[in-house]
Amino acid sequence: MAKLNVKDLELKGKKVIIRCDFNVPLDDDLNITDDMRIQGALPTLKYVLAQGAAKMILMSHFGRPEGKVVENMRLTPVAKRLKELLGEDVLMLKDCIGDDVKAAIAKSSARVIVLENLRFHKEETKNDPAFAKQLASLADVYVNDAFGTAHRAHASTEGITKYLKSAAGFLLEKEVSYLGKAVENPDKPFVVILGGAKVSDKILLIENLLKKADSILIGGGMAYTFLKAQGKNVGNSLLEADKIGIAKDLLAKAKKVGVNIVLSSDFMVVDNFDNKDSLKLVTDIEDGWEGLDIGPATIAKFKAVLARAKTVVWNGPVGVFEIDEYAKGTKEIAEYLATLKGVTTIVGGGDSAAAVSKFGVDDKMTHISTGGGASLEYLEGKVLPGIAALTDK
Ligand code: AMP
Repeated sequence: MAKLNVKDLELKGKKVIIRCDFNVPLDDDLNITDDMRIQGALPTLKYVLAQGAAKMILMSHFGRPEGKVVENMRLTPVAKRLKELLGEDVLMLKDCIGDDVKAAIAKSSARVIVLENLRFHKEETKNDPAFAKQLASLADVYVNDAFGTAHRAHASTEGITKYLKSAAGFLLEKEVSYLGKAVENPDKPFVVILGGAKVSDKILLIENLLKKADSILIGGGMAYTFLKAQGKNVGNSLLEADKIGIAKDLLAKAKKVGVNIVLSSDFMVVDNFDNKDSLKLVTDIEDGWEGLDIGPATIAKFKAVLARAKTVVWNGPVGVFEIDEYAKGTKEIAEYLATLKGVTTIVGGGDSAAAVSKFGVDDKMTHISTGGGASLEYLEGKVLPGIAALTDK
């Protein structure tokens, strides 16, 4: 990356402020149910401590409190878990800016300090310069390790870089190196698997990948708009009627540039989402039926293309994988990816990451992105403001 890395910074005796993504899932009793995001930050945090930083000040958003203090969106559970994982005292503060925060940091005996949820202040998402300056005033250098919010120009991801030398953490760097290689210089054949609910979310992604990919496999809810564009029956399946024209254009463009688009061609359908007993396999979806998963012929067809791949990017489940009866396609694709040798397998964040984890093959993937929206925008070829704002090498 052409940006400073945490390794390029002089950290000894310094106050280091780090933007992390600690937006972890909690249960009703405020227990963390999955600490993947905290674990993901540990390499950077441990490195900064090992370099002898005087203070390590951690900041994150949590949920969407929309500029107000919301009691069950405090970062206290995160501070508690960090204390266990780092084996160091952690001071949890009641706010993220102001004189009290400054005074507490100055007299803290703990080196690790967690600021309260940034989004308790509406200025965070507004990228307010005065707020960003107040955050910056707490430290000597800034590190961004929150890939999941790098696509947002917020005070803690973009504004703050105007006041401090700014470097990428290890997690951010890792994301950029895997996703960057896939969009810039993938080992070929490069195969993309797309699924999920909506075509509209993935139009820019497909347009950008048409320049890079050899094959694009399309399953899930978004396939039906493409199938309709080819004149096929889709019954009651998910359909974005206003996107049929765009789907047609994308298919034509793919043909022109020689990208092999493979659409699902057999389907597991039901007559009602909740009527699992009606589940059956069809190649033509009649009125009154709804496709919720890909069928065995599509699974075989997708696998045959994947068997030749050297790079695979997967974004979006190929069926309603949350429900076991409709999960077979997504499960088989996930399990097949896990068997591929010498292939770079990259899973876009969000639902596809949840799917590989549900089917127990997460440790078999080369890289699982921690940022859903951010990885999508990166793959669309967009410049992410949180990365662009870091100090050049
Ligand atoms: P997205 O956020 O666009 O990646 O969509 C993910 C969601 O798409 C998941 O919750 C899946 O259950 C859903 N999904 C995948 N395939 C289908 C389908 N055939 N019909 C309805 N929903 C689907």
